Amino acid sequence: MSDSVRIREVGPRDGFQNEPEIIPTDAKVELVDLLARTGLSRLEVTSFVRADVIPQLADGAEVLARVSVPDDVAVTVLIPNEKGLENALALRDRFSEVNCFLSASETHNRKNVNRSIDESLSGLERVIGSAVGEGLRAEGVISVAFGCPYEGDVPRERVWSIARRLIEAGASEIAFGDTTGMANPVQVRSYFEEARAELGPEVELTAHFHNTRGQGLANVFAALEAGCRSFESSFGELGGCPVPAGATGNIATEDLVSMLHEMGFATGIDLDAVVAAARRAQELLGRPLGSHTLVAGPIDWHRS
Ligand code: ZN
Repeated sequence: MSDSVRIREVGPRDGFQNEPEIIPTDAKVELVDLLARTGLSRLEVTSFVRADVIPQLADGAEVLARVSVPDDVAVTVLIPNEKGLENALALRDRFSEVNCFLSASETHNRKNVNRSIDESLSGLERVIGSAVGEGLRAEGVISVAFGCPYEGDVPRERVWSIARRLIEAGASEIAFGDTTGMANPVQVRSYFEEARAELGPEVELTAHFHNTRGQGLANVFAALEAGCRSFESSFGELGGCPVPAGATGNIATEDLVSMLHEMGFATGIDLDAVVAAARRAQELLGRPLGSHTLVAGPIDWHRS
């Protein structure tokens, strides 16, 4: 089961937006610049959501303008709607991918973006169409795809029909988000097998797991077994939300990379460099972060 795996680091967006404090712009730029030199090939730098909705990312445009990212790293920005794309396009030469999102359940989508799924889809079809017209690559992220904290079970047929509309609009990648950590490995394996069969061989399928209930890496293993080779994660396991208490963030990039490398997969990523970036985030935030590899250190077979 060994070959190469693509990882998109989403800490500067999914992580920073869910941390309790607002991280200073200088610190964000420093951390993005560190991450951009770890061998990661995909980096989600920020989002263009309204500042009053997500004050943690109100400086998104400034961060995007100031970071220094090598040419071989694809920079992604999260775009919620047409206005967001318009704002991002003022910095068109600073990124190469857009990431558009909606939820697989009506209740979650309504709470998150105050629209119905259909309203979201209509808007995102225009966003993706415009972005692709600008020469940008488009990713569609379907949140709460494995279960919704408000509605419970999410019918897969609904997820596939949302994915099909995003693909038809021009998305070349679909990510399935386990936004609140409800997925389990048995579900994940059949989910990715079915997604591939339903959505065809061309589209890139990506797993976006949160480690809310500690099942993130088990879910990664199940997705790998089902043929998934694209993942999203946050360095330092950033994104721990204060409500509900004890909830943790995305799976940690350093834990994901450590496991993949030990299993014989190539990622192109320098694990020590990711750990160093997470350590720097700890210093800048002034508190310990949740990743296991950060605490234990990378495995060094030659030292023990
Ligand atoms: Zn997420």
